[in-house]
Amino acid sequence: MQRSHPYMKSGFLTELLSPKRISFIVNPKAGTNLQKHIRESVEKYLNHDQFEYGFKYTEHAGHARELALEALAEGYDIVTAVGGDGSINEVASALIGTKAILGIIPAGSGNGLAMHLGYGRDVEGAVRKLNTAQEKIIDVGLMNGRPFINLAGIGFDGLVSNMMKGSNWRGFIPYFLKSVEAGLKYTPSLCTIEMDDRVLTEKCFAITIANGPMYGYNFQIAPDARMDDGLFEVVILKDAPRWQYFAAVPATLIGKIYDAGFVEHFTTKRVRISTEGTNYTHLDGEGLVQEGDLTFEMKPKSLHILVPQQKSDWNI
Ligand SMILES: [Mg+2]
Repeated sequence: MQRSHPYMKSGFLTELLSPKRISFIVNPKAGTNLQKHIRESVEKYLNHDQFEYGFKYTEHAGHARELALEALAEGYDIVTAVGGDGSINEVASALIGTKAILGIIPAGSGNGLAMHLGYGRDVEGAVRKLNTAQEKIIDVGLMNGRPFINLAGIGFDGLVSNMMKGSNWRGFIPYFLKSVEAGLKYTPSLCTIEMDDRVLTEKCFAITIANGPMYGYNFQIAPDARMDDGLFEVVILKDAPRWQYFAAVPATLIGKIYDAGFVEHFTTKRVRISTEGTNYTHLDGEGLVQEGDLTFEMKPKSLHILVPQQKSDWNI
């Protein structure tokens, strides 16, 4: 008599063959408005044999996290952020340390993380990619206990994020204009940066604590960053004549920012930054104003994430 396969006994195969449940958390106010057609795209392009799905729509800041927690409680296997890096941050913050998997449909203005992971820029394409995406586990960073998935920054880029707050005009042009304005306005301050194996005191224009390598629009601020190595890439832009920053922009677009003379970069598991006065910071592009020291810690391999297939064989 043929004995039943042990996988069948354990229910493994049953689980493997049953559709995954996927919740789409849509930010209707995300940068590009591309998310307007998410429902049609999912109905048309998601593999319905493979996935059961539902939609939730955010109504205010912080709501994406609440809806992600709700989706977890409802037993969804995959919770997908439909929005920009800010929406991804909120949804991911609910999933850290759980087995639920983060999916991404890029609908922000910059889409740094989605671009890095290979989701591309269009909603339809990203929905199709979910059908064959593979699960990976990545690190998450914490700044004073608050999570970030892609990048945290202090200084110039923190000021830009704060200046973009409340602005309804999104896209490359407003970011560019605000960056020029902030670049001329920002006064570098003396920072003490403690890392695993060194302490630096520098006059800094900006410090980026990178889990992922890029801001939106292909600005590769930390081209060597890997999301699963348990380490931060710390990129320091030292005080320099302003024209040097502008002159280095083309190099950042092709992953060569480390060639610029005013850039220093390090890898470390933890960072503590002390400055004088108020800190303009950002977490995944969300601007914050903070007093006192900033501490950055790693939560290694703490977030399950779906990565499009063509990217999943590469280093993330
Ligand atoms: Mg890393």
